[in-house]
Amino acid sequence: MPNAQLTAAHSGAAKDSGLTNLLGLTRDELEGWVEGLGEKAFRARQLFKWVHQHGATDFQAMTSLAKSLRDQLNGRAELRELPILRDHQSVDGTRKWLLDAGQGNAIETVYIPEDDRGTLCVSSQAGCTVACGFCSTGHQGFARNLSTAEIIGQVRMANRLLDPSGRRAAVSNVVFMGMGEPLLNYEAVRGALQILLDDNGYGLSRRKVTVSTSGVVPFIERLAAECPVALAVSLHAPNDPLRDRLVPLNKKYPLAELLAACRLYLRSGPRDFITFEYVMLEGVNDSQDHARELVSLVTQAKLYCKFNLIPFNPFPASGFRRSPAERVRQFAQTLQAAGMVATVRKTRGDDIDAACGQLAGDIQDRTLIRLRRLDAGAEGLALGSHETSSPHHA
Ligand code: SAH
Ligand code: SF4
Repeated sequence: MPNAQLTAAHSGAAKDSGLTNLLGLTRDELEGWVEGLGEKAFRARQLFKWVHQHGATDFQAMTSLAKSLRDQLNGRAELRELPILRDHQSVDGTRKWLLDAGQGNAIETVYIPEDDRGTLCVSSQAGCTVACGFCSTGHQGFARNLSTAEIIGQVRMANRLLDPSGRRAAVSNVVFMGMGEPLLNYEAVRGALQILLDDNGYGLSRRKVTVSTSGVVPFIERLAAECPVALAVSLHAPNDPLRDRLVPLNKKYPLAELLAACRLYLRSGPRDFITFEYVMLEGVNDSQDHARELVSLVTQAKLYCKFNLIPFNPFPASGFRRSPAERVRQFAQTLQAAGMVATVRKTRGDDIDAACGQLAGDIQDRTLIRLRRLDAGAEGLALGSHETSSPHHA
C-alpha cells in the first residue's frame, strides 16, 4: 500500500474509512504516496496546489489531473475536515468556529481580521494536559491530539468560508494560540507547519506563523533545528515559585532552562526577538515588584524580547480576576522605562468568547453535543453544520 508508513499523526482519526486523508500529507509525503500509485512525482505538486491553494473539495474538480488519476484518488483518498458545529460572528468581525473532534469533544478556530492581515488562531489539541489555572482549556482536561490533517483543515476551511470565490487567501497569518499545547503534539504540528510554509501549499513566510508554548524546552530546541517559525512563550511570572503555580509545566522546565532554550531559538528563528506573553491577573502577578523582577530576569538572561501583556479573560470557576486597566498600564510603563518593548493586547471577539483562554469548547457545548448525538442516533453527525447561533456562554 502506498501509504502504509503514514501514521495517525498525519491523517484524521485513523480508525475509519481506510482512505488516506490528503490534508495531512506534507509535499514530500504526498510525492511518495503519488509515486506509490504509479504516477510521476510532479503530479503531487499539482495535487498539493489543488488541495491547499484552490481548496478543492472533490477530486473530479481537479481538471489539470488526468481522469485516470482522479479515478484512482476517488477510490483511495479523501479531503476530510472536522465537521462544523457552530459558526459565530462577532460585531468586530472576529469569527469563531466550533468543530466536532469526535466523542463529544469540540475544538475552536478563530479568525481575526485587521486592516493589513487576517490572522487565524488554530487549535492543536482537544483540551490540554498542562492545566494552567487561568485557562479554560486547561480546566477542561485533555481529550486527544489533533492530527496534521485536522490542524491544516482549520486553515483550509477558514480560507474557503471567508472567500468562497477562492481568489484571495483570507488567512495571511497563523498563530497556534487556540486550544492545546502545540509542542506537546510536536510531530503533527511540525507537519502542519511544513504545509503552511510550502510555496505550493499556503506559502506563508516563517515570520507569519507563530507557535505559542507554555515552555516545553526539548521541543523548543527541536523546533529550532527542524522548522523554525516565530515563537511566543507564555511566561506569566518573573520567578519559579509563582510560575510553578500558574504554569505547572514550570516544575519540569524551570525558568533558567526555558530562557536558555529561548536564547538558542533566536539563533535559528526568523525573528530577532522572542515574544513573551504575560496574562495580567489582579493581585497575583501584576505588581510593580513583579514588573521590576521581570526586567532583571530578561536582562540577566541577555535575551532580546517583546512583552505582550494580555488582560485576563475571565470565565466561571477560574478564581482569578482581570487586572484593572491602570495597573496594566503601569506595569507596561515600568517595562518600557527599562528599555523593553511592551504592548497590551487588544481583546477581540469578546461577545462570542473568542478571546484568549476562553477557547474551551466548554462543558455546556460538550454536553449539548452528547445530547444531540443521542438524539441523532448512531450516525451522530446529523447536526446542522454552518449553524449560526448566539454566544454559547450564558
Ligand atoms: N498552550 C499554548 C498556546 C495556547 S494558549 C500556550 O499556553 O502558550 C494562548 C495564550 O493565551 C497563552 O499565552 C495563554 O497563556 C493565554 N491564555 C490562556 N488563558 C487565558 C485567559 N483566560 N486570559 C488571557 N489569556 C489566556
Ligand atoms: Fe494549555 Fe496553554 Fe491553556 Fe496552559 S494556557 S492550559 S498550556 S492551552
